[in-house]
Amino acid sequence: MSEQEFRRALGYASSAMDLLKRGQIPPYPQFYELLYTYATGVNPTLNQRINQVFRDGTATAELAERLYNEFLKSQDANERISSVSERMANRIEAVHDAIDTAMATANAYSGTLQSASGDLGQEMDEPQLRMMAQRLLGETRRMQDANAQLEQKLEASRDDISALQRDLDEVRRESMLDPLTKIFNRKSFDEGMLKAFADASGGGQPLCLMLLDIDHFKRFNDTWGHQTGDQVLRLVAMTLKSNIKGKDMAARYGGEEFVAILPETDLEGAIIVADNIRKAVQAKELLKRSTNEKLGRITASFGVAAYRPGDTTSSLIERTDRCLYAAKHAGRNRVFSETELKDDDRIIAA
Ligand code: GH3
Ligand code: MG
Ligand code: MG
Repeated sequence: MSEQEFRRALGYASSAMDLLKRGQIPPYPQFYELLYTYATGVNPTLNQRINQVFRDGTATAELAERLYNEFLKSQDANERISSVSERMANRIEAVHDAIDTAMATANAYSGTLQSASGDLGQEMDEPQLRMMAQRLLGETRRMQDANAQLEQKLEASRDDISALQRDLDEVRRESMLDPLTKIFNRKSFDEGMLKAFADASGGGQPLCLMLLDIDHFKRFNDTWGHQTGDQVLRLVAMTLKSNIKGKDMAARYGGEEFVAILPETDLEGAIIVADNIRKAVQAKELLKRSTNEKLGRITASFGVAAYRPGDTTSSLIERTDRCLYAAKHAGRNRVFSETELKDDDRIIAA
């Protein structure tokens, strides 16, 4: 974990504690998690609800419990996946039951045929033969019915299982995306980094990492409101996404920070990509949707670093973060790469 990341987490933690105190909410782990999530701003709907609660002065432990259950507990993708697997298990059990029933019917049928074949060995008059034929016919019909039922159940299960599969795919897809900006989330980024690292260390191809942090975003939020801030986050995410291509991967790193993994890209190329994004962000003239009011422009700062043999994912992230910090320190709205890092940037970042 980089120094900056540590300080950021500490900032979220202390805001969470302040809010707990302000609302007289006991600092139990789930309430702390709720307000920590609020402090990071990753869930705009949750933030709106909590803002309302604080505005109304109605914070209570019961309300915090309800919000926790609604926003954090029930949104847990793992829980949703286990509900799908539970439904899947029930379906499979139902199919097993249907197969057991069909097997039992088939066994009974085979018994009937066997006893009929024994009877046929003996002398039989015509009425006896007719009776036996009728019995066999009846048993065959029962067998056919049982088979038809099994077929029907299997057909229904097949449809159900496809629906479950679709649900599962949807949950999996959603769990990879950031709900606000719909680009990849931090978890997907972590996975993407591992893959990019494996490729870079195995194939000798270059790999770069880019971090983007919106400048003075707190001020923007304070001036124009959180919801307008959210629109800006979506806009920046789209700008980032539309300026990368191929194997590149863009993700929301957290809050107002974004990250891009740039495989098969050297530092020079990565700096160009970052600078194009910087210019594209700066070029957007922001308008408030509801009123068409001009909100001015925003800028962002960038850190870019290249993979070196021996790097770990965290050492590369840390170096990129240091570049970003240096870009902020150098006046913002600029791209800073590791070649420009001076020794004392380490001290500035500490
Ligand atoms: P700097 O130029 O140094 O990066 O300044 P900054 O104000 O951008 O940085 P700071 O870390 O002080 O504040 C980040 C702000 O980003 C605070 C927080 O309200 C805002 N933010 C984080 N996540 C969200 C979000 O999901 N929605 C909105 N609207 N704002 C968010
Ligand atoms: Mg930041
Ligand atoms: Mg910022």
